[in-house]
Amino acid sequence: MYRGRFAPSPTGPLHSGSLVAAVASFLDARANGGDWWLRIDDIDPPRHDLNSFISIPECLLIHGLHWDNDILLQSKRHEVYEAYLDRLKGEGLLFTCVCTRLTLGKLGQCETDCASRTHSEGSLRFTVPSDAPKSLDDLVLGQQTASQLPNNFVVKRKDGAIAYQLATAVDDLDEGYTHIIRGADLLESSFRQKAIQQVLKRPSPQYGHVPVVTDSEGYKLSKQNGARGIDVHRPAQNLRDTLSFLRQPAPPEAIQHVADVLEFAQEHWDTSALPAVSCNFLTR
Ligand code: GLU
Repeated sequence: MYRGRFAPSPTGPLHSGSLVAAVASFLDARANGGDWWLRIDDIDPPRHDLNSFISIPECLLIHGLHWDNDILLQSKRHEVYEAYLDRLKGEGLLFTCVCTRLTLGKLGQCETDCASRTHSEGSLRFTVPSDAPKSLDDLVLGQQTASQLPNNFVVKRKDGAIAYQLATAVDDLDEGYTHIIRGADLLESSFRQKAIQQVLKRPSPQYGHVPVVTDSEGYKLSKQNGARGIDVHRPAQNLRDTLSFLRQPAPPEAIQHVADVLEFAQEHWDTSALPAVSCNFLTR
């Protein structure tokens, strides 16, 4: 049984970097006879672009990327996240932190005495247990070691918003994914999510991190820094460009329709050819 997913945040139209993660996760699922689900990670309303709730699924369909199941929305799961927070609290692994950016230590971890005090308001932080997994057998990058795992990190923000790490760690369990293929910018997050999953005594999915698309200065393309949306009028060419970025065999020129490009790509999907490029890019 294989179940994969693509989980964009609705912060703008899909750009070429997000198409890479969508295509790689789709092809890996389909090449393994698996399901591929679509989840919209809509837990940070101030950053949402309402159009993208429509434009992202549309853009995927234009590129022939059909998901199984209904679209899942993280915003519907607040009560579930709260229940998981209670569980982590019951394990003695949550504390309220009043640090600001200025008082946080390296890796953004709380290094003051917050954990030993009872603050009435602040962000909620998860204490990473000392036996949290420090290595990961990445499907693309091979054996990876956690070099940047902080001692604690935010799971619920001061404004009440559930943090990405918690929502994703528990959704990926509850939605039953066996494989998570996503950008290498999230490698470090995988260690955080595995730490939460281990405390919940549930096996983590297998992770594979594909290279991140950068601009000419080496910065990661992102919706926040204005990466342009994909030109939806040339989907077959976008797929060809994505396959070439992923160092997959080029579909013959005679193949023109998106469905045929994808079928060729699925038949020739070769994970050993994927570029193993970890996080040596910049983020603004
Ligand atoms: N929602 C996250 C993003 O768009 C990625 C989630 C994931 O693949 O874990 O960057």
